[in-house]
Amino acid sequence: MSEEKIVFSRPFRAEREGENLEAVLASGHAHGDGRFTASATAKLERITQSKNVLLTTSCTHALEMTSVLLDLKPGDEVILPSYTFPSAATAVSAYGATSVFVDVQKDTGVIDPELIEDAITPRTKAISVMHYGGVAPDMRRVLDIAHTHGIPVIEDNAHGLGGAWNGQQLGTFGAFATQSFHSTKNVHSGEGGALLINDERFVERAEIIREKGTNRSRFLRGQVDKYSWVDKGSSYLPSELNAAVLDAQLEQFDQIQGLRVEIWERYASELAQWAELNGVAPMTLPPASAQVAHLFYLLMPSFDAQQGLLQHLRDHDIIGTFHYIPLDSSVAGRKFGRTPRECPNSLDFSQRIVRLPLWAGMSEAQVARVIAAVRSFGVTRAA
Ligand SMILES: *Cc1c(COP(=O)(O)O)cnc(C)c1O
Repeated sequence: MSEEKIVFSRPFRAEREGENLEAVLASGHAHGDGRFTASATAKLERITQSKNVLLTTSCTHALEMTSVLLDLKPGDEVILPSYTFPSAATAVSAYGATSVFVDVQKDTGVIDPELIEDAITPRTKAISVMHYGGVAPDMRRVLDIAHTHGIPVIEDNAHGLGGAWNGQQLGTFGAFATQSFHSTKNVHSGEGGALLINDERFVERAEIIREKGTNRSRFLRGQVDKYSWVDKGSSYLPSELNAAVLDAQLEQFDQIQGLRVEIWERYASELAQWAELNGVAPMTLPPASAQVAHLFYLLMPSFDAQQGLLQHLRDHDIIGTFHYIPLDSSVAGRKFGRTPRECPNSLDFSQRIVRLPLWAGMSEAQVARVIAAVRSFGVTRAA
């Protein structure tokens, strides 16, 4: 193939990244919690409408912080979707607790709220949901169940920054929510994340856990005259170098989202007819969800069709991908987790999904090439 390869994802280049990095290096303050951390945090509070945002070194670490905040220990259980990124489960197993896997909905890949209640036991310490592609489950139902049993909810919102469900911002439903700024996400800082805390009772402790178990944050604000070891903790705060890049990215958040939404909509409209003819279900946005355009996927009619389309794209120098291998069937999932009921929808989703390249900055010609390549698979090829 003479054509240039189309990669699956590429980090956005924000205008002020270089300038901000230079400012950090020149300032002599490159460790955490400087002016770019403050600035990026304020922007995140505006975007998410959460009152308490703490930048972290990753989404995985933000999830681990929730385990520390909930004092997870061996014997405790956390309910998770079987179809999600492993971090939701490693954060639980790191403290010796057990992940309890629950199946997802067939069409959206998000946890099925109707299956949560059955999985609750006296040992359940949290219900962890993940907004796949920025699509949330019925959060009213999730919160009803959680309140009935007095169990906190964690939202893994790595995909859904700026998203909403029924007009309320994602990340503001649970006691906790987590964001990722890994370089494959809409907004990135290389590696990075954030913890959103919506239950005020956890705010002070979270700050301590993030700062190696010390009350250094209170000391820096002049609230105590020395700082020392007061609780559990680790080093979860990112350096100002990461925050400098994140702040530059967040400054262009609307632009990034706009560019991605355009591509998402083009895929949806220009592949609709092909999908219909080939028995393919393209990603759709439920009416309650706001568009974040983190990913666009096609649910192929079978595993063979999934493998076939991925190979067909590779033959056209285009990188499409599948996604999560269900956690309940994974080696570690069987060792550190429990699956009260089989999760056929997770497996089905995993074996049928094809995600198409999507990043802010993809050219119109590149999008057109992906669409043409997809359309040349299936009916027309068989004809
Ligand atoms: C990317 C991702 C994570 C992990 O994020 P890191 O910042 O790399 O730790 C966790 N959950 C989901 C759903 C993700 O997409």
